[in-house]
Amino acid sequence: MFGIGFKELLLLVGVLLAVWFGSRMLQRFEAHRGERASMHDRRRRAKVKDKDKAERPSPAKRPVEEMADCPACGVYYARGTSPQCARADCPVRG
Ligand SMILES: [Zn+2]
Repeated sequence: MFGIGFKELLLLVGVLLAVWFGSRMLQRFEAHRGERASMHDRRRRAKVKDKDKAERPSPAKRPVEEMADCPACGVYYARGTSPQCARADCPVRG
């Protein structure tokens, strides 16, 4: 029939099935990969958040420091500390 035999038809069906299963597996693989990637991303973001929390004190705990600038070199420093400027003849450096 139609010039093709039973064997060819069987082969065609086999190929179609293989392609179908292949695409399904690929789809599942892609979904799995996306899931893993998003999980990894979430975990990494959580880690960064934790690190951030650990390194930086909350703004409520950190007192506000009044800043002043050195009139000679323009370096800003917290009042009560000495500025870290390079000038040896700094008028405000302790
Ligand atoms: Zn200075």
